[in-house]
Amino acid sequence: MDRAFDYGSKGWGFESLQVRFFYIQAANTMEKNAVHFMKKALAQAVTAEKRGEVPVGAVLVRDGRVIGRGGNAPIGDSDPSAHAEIVALRRAGKKIGEYRLNGADLYVTLEPCLMCYGAMVQARIAKLYYGADDAKNGIFSSGVFDNVQHVFNHRIAVEAGLLAEPAAAMLSGFFKARRGAGAVERDGLENRYGE
Ligand SMILES: [Zn+2]
Repeated sequence: MDRAFDYGSKGWGFESLQVRFFYIQAANTMEKNAVHFMKKALAQAVTAEKRGEVPVGAVLVRDGRVIGRGGNAPIGDSDPSAHAEIVALRRAGKKIGEYRLNGADLYVTLEPCLMCYGAMVQARIAKLYYGADDAKNGIFSSGVFDNVQHVFNHRIAVEAGLLAEPAAAMLSGFFKARRGAGAVERDGLENRYGE
């Protein structure tokens, strides 16, 4: 009896260890994937900077595949709505042939503004990963979300601060260089990153 009991309890212990190991592995894989896709968003930010835009980049991912990517482009496109997130959403919609992107995750290097968050709700994005905080224009950091969330009919899961440092460093560097060149930047971001 004692031996049977011992055997049983060992078996149970081993199984629960296996289960725990599986979850840890799954969590590690998800984290690795998230970092992988945020690096792609950072690459879009680099491309945007080369075009003279504020360096922000975004990618949309569904079923482990990138379905849309975009860099900030309001100056080049003469389009006030051409934030990286909107560019990526438009491209993904065109590619998929649908205006809803159910189950897609959006990775963006900077905390989204109210306009971009609204567009994500329209697209039914499942999860938002963002890098650096934007204290002035960010929908969460500015406190705007608390006042407007009642109008949103879709909930988006959020993970903040993913690869925040390189994203913030790129923005700081950009505004420092612009100031050095005597340019005046007035889109609000410089208050946070231009110091
Ligand atoms: Zn935006």
